[in-house]
Amino acid sequence: MKEVSRIVMFGPPGAGKGTQSKALSEWLGVPHISTGQVLREEMSNSTRVGILAKEFMERGELVSDNVLIEMIKNLLESEACSSGWILDGFPRTLSQARFLDKLLEDISQRIDSVISLRVPENVLVHRLLKRSSLEGRADDNEEAIANRLRVYEEQTSPILDYYGSQKFSVTIDGDQVLSEVTSDIRKALEQLSS
Ligand code: AMP
Repeated sequence: MKEVSRIVMFGPPGAGKGTQSKALSEWLGVPHISTGQVLREEMSNSTRVGILAKEFMERGELVSDNVLIEMIKNLLESEACSSGWILDGFPRTLSQARFLDKLLEDISQRIDSVISLRVPENVLVHRLLKRSSLEGRADDNEEAIANRLRVYEEQTSPILDYYGSQKFSVTIDGDQVLSEVTSDIRKALEQLSS
């Protein structure tokens, strides 16, 4: 059986990447790396990176590639990530995707699967607005949400074509109850590993 333990979780804001990555991380026993979460922690600790990222994040814009690239390099080269990882929120631009390929080549790793969660835009907006009242994330207001969806369309979705033709890429219907999505992801990964 082929090991599938290096996974890119892909999809628009509100698609459920965070929730599904967490479930997958427990199932596979590998770390869940959310670049958005790392940036929020940097922000609340007022680090150099956090201060740099704050304005962009609050507006729903992307933080500079340089910042993210350095962050991902440190994380993926760490011992904790040596036997696998689930990337949630990275790559988000074509240049991040190209950087990731190069980095993985350098450290003799590769992506085992790209899981793309598909959810209609009206459902995404509804979910993000609901999350704003539950979690109070600074970028879950209407203006930032609209920006994040636009940024996804313009800068992030082209990555799908970049990965699209490769065999390890699977699309999952993210507009189902949570447990169904989890089960579909597991089935797809089991198929890939057999
Ligand atoms: P998320 O928690 O994944 O929705 O990310 C929240 C915010 O963090 C995004 O809207 C961006 O401002 C920033 N961010 C997270 N990951 C990246 C990335 N790979 N590249 C640039 N900005 C990012």
